[in-house]
Order: sequence, then C-alpha cells, then structure tokens
Amino acid sequence: MTKAASAAAKDLAAAGVSGVHVAWADNNGIPRSRIVPITGLADAATRGVGTTSLFAVFDSHDAITYGHSGLATPSGDIRLVPVIDRLRRLAGQPALAWAPGRQLAADGSPWPYCQRGVLERQVAEADRRGLEFRAGYEMEFAVAPAGSADIVSAPGHPGPAYSPHALIGLDEFVAGLLHDFDANGLRIGQLHAEYGLAQLELSLGVTDPVSAADDQLLARQTIHAAAHAHGLVVSFAPMIGSGTAGNGWHLHTSVRRKGRNLLAGEGLPGEDGAAYLGGLLRDLPALTAITAPSVPSTMRLRPGFFAGAYAFWGVENREAPLRYVPGSSLLGTDHANVELKTSDASANPYLALAVVLAAGMAGIADGVVPPEPIAQDPGTWSAGERETRGVARLPEDPAAQDAALLASSRVAGVLGDELLGAFRAVRASDAAWAEGKSADEIIAAHLWRY
Ligand code: GLU
Ligand code: MG
Repeated sequence: MTKAASAAAKDLAAAGVSGVHVAWADNNGIPRSRIVPITGLADAATRGVGTTSLFAVFDSHDAITYGHSGLATPSGDIRLVPVIDRLRRLAGQPALAWAPGRQLAADGSPWPYCQRGVLERQVAEADRRGLEFRAGYEMEFAVAPAGSADIVSAPGHPGPAYSPHALIGLDEFVAGLLHDFDANGLRIGQLHAEYGLAQLELSLGVTDPVSAADDQLLARQTIHAAAHAHGLVVSFAPMIGSGTAGNGWHLHTSVRRKGRNLLAGEGLPGEDGAAYLGGLLRDLPALTAITAPSVPSTMRLRPGFFAGAYAFWGVENREAPLRYVPGSSLLGTDHANVELKTSDASANPYLALAVVLAAGMAGIADGVVPPEPIAQDPGTWSAGERETRGVARLPEDPAAQDAALLASSRVAGVLGDELLGAFRAVRASDAAWAEGKSADEIIAAHLWRY
C-alpha cells in the first residue's frame, strides 16, 4: 500500500495537487475531513493521521455529547487512514485530491465506531453467505444563489418541475457538474429539475455497497464545489421549508447469488427476492431510524410527498417507502431492484447500507413472506382501512425512532454496542436541541449541514 500511495502521491504532486482530503461521514451524515499534504500521503496511508475519537459523538449542530459512556471524556485519539485505491483528484478543486478514510484505533486495530468498517463487515457476511449486493443512491438537492440565507426566499431555478427550461439559468453549473462527475470517476444515470422548489436530482451509477457509500460522499464534494464555482449554493438537507417537498436520497439495492439477481421475476420477485423485500419491510421502522435519522427526516416522511410515511411496499409505487422496481424485456431481468425512499443526507451512508444489507439478508435467511404489494397511497385511506391492511405509520419523532431501533436486534446489533451507544446519544442530543423549537428554526439549522 505504501508503494501505491507513494506512486499516487508522486503523480498527483506532478499534476499540481498539494493536499488530500481524507473524508468520512459522522453519525449525522455530515462529511468531515482532514487535509494531508501530498508529501505526507504515503505516511498517512500507513500510519494514518491523528484525529479525536469524539467525532463519534458530535451531534448535527457540532455540539459534543458526553452522553455515551464509551466516549464520556475529552480524552482519546484515533488514526484516520486514507483508502488509496479510492483516491481521486478533485476536478472542481484541482489543487486537492480526495480519499475516503478508515477510522482505526490508535494501535491500528479496528475501531468499533468506524462506520465504514461496519459496512465492510456486512459485505464480508454477505460474501460468507454466497450473496453479492449492488447499490446506488439518487440524490435530490435544492439550489440558490451563493450568499442566500435560505432556498425558499431565493430559489435557484423557477421550475416547472422536470422542465428543460427550468435549468437554462443553470446551464453552466449543470455542464460543470457533468464534467466534474466524469473527471472524478463518478457515473451518473441522469440529472433533472425535480418536483420540489429549486430542486435538482441526479442518480449515481450502481456499484458494490462500500463504493456506493464512498461515491455518495465524493458526489457531495463534487456538487458543492461545482455550485461554488458557478456562484451557487446547494442544500442537501432533508427539508428546505415546511411546506415544500423534501430532499430524499433514495437507496436502490439488489442482491445476487451465483450471479443471478434474486429480485428478478415476472413482474414480482421470486421467493428469495420476496424474502429480501420482506426482510426490509419487517425491519423498516428500525432501518428508518438509521437511514433517515435526523429531526428534519421525521418531518420529511409525510404522506403524499413520495417520501414514504407508512410501512408497506408496492410495485413501482412512488408513495411506497419500499418500491419494487422490476426488470423488463427492454431493461433485462438484472435491472430489478428495491428502492428505499426513507433515506436522506442526514444518514451516514455506510451505516445506512450496512443495516439495509443486514435486514435483507435476515429476510432471506428466515424466508420472510411479505404481504401483498399495495398500489394505492394508504395515506388516502381511513385509519381503520390501514389497520385492517396492517399498514402502520413510520416513527414520527426521535423517541419513536429510538424505540423502533431498539425493538430490532437485527438492525441495532449491526452497529455493535459501542457505536449503537454513540449513535443513540447523538440522536438524543439532537432531540434535546430541537425541544421547543419551531419547525422553521429546526429546518434552518440543518439547511447547510450536509
Ligand atoms: N422528494 C421526495 C422525497 O422526499 C421524492 C420524490 C421522488 O423522487 O419520488 O423523497
Ligand atoms: Mg426524486
């Protein structure tokens, strides 16, 4: 690795790169980084750079909570190690490069709070079971002129939704974005003006789970830099205003055994694919506590906004938190996947994928049989109809989220006791911060955090 790091550092230095962002995402989905000078890259790849262990207990507002017994004092240091095979020069910040970081204990052993490590463990578990996952994120974000206090008072495009005209004023930004994505080694399926106020969306190419999470972090860096270069600012926050559509970061996954996509089928998945879906549905409230964990996340998951408010699944149902996307003769059976809509930028992408993999694998192992798919929006039904059909509301506040998380040892157990403790302490700190604040105050405080 040192050899690869030295060679990469030499090439990057010759190309004018002077430093490398070693980046990770914390328990609030907020990206953090340390810049290593290019001359120090090889050393960092071997020994890491020092950073505080307290990042595991930062809340969404940069407050440090000492509410978790494992990290209850200001003492402690870990090593942040760049992953050299994911090192990229940043097209939008050409004097800098970027690499995701692994968080290791000071002696170089695995650190239980490393979110990337948690996902690596689930991928290894999948491998042991003869399963292989593919994953990709859709990213929605809102845009405003640089310096805007918020999006609602200064929307960066006028709509109409999905209109090519909406983006004419953003032509240079969009072109810059497409260029930088390509140069940074990120594939995207498509980009468009989304339904929400001043909203855009792009979908990242599908890849293995760890790369999908790495890519999601790199994509954020790429979008922020392109926006800055074009006099704009973007918000990835789950909510940009109380009355407008939220920013969902829908997570698409599929699972293969011996190269065969288990979700493939004639309009519906086969037995194992159905069990995968059933596993996700069985644990959906607990999953959502990890994949849409912030206070604004609970505001986003309202009925009627295509964000997922009730626990059910459907075939191509845009209101379903679990949307089964079948393959077709045009797309091929391999296209089949499940979209999780209760997912947003306030989730740590590694943890989000780790719990999805675990819940889905448990579903396959237990042969879970999901209920019939639902084609309607249960939000339009009476409470009695929902009860008869077994369709429950997803957790609507932090206390309900925490209870849902604890109620599933399958999901909570993925994090391990230490990280689970830190994660819950951070959520409690966020909840205490939000206590007594208005929806607008809460939304404003999260708007530029991701
Ligand atoms: N903006 C919606 C959300 O908050 C998603 C809309 C869609 O792409 O279906 O998840
Ligand atoms: Mg969308």
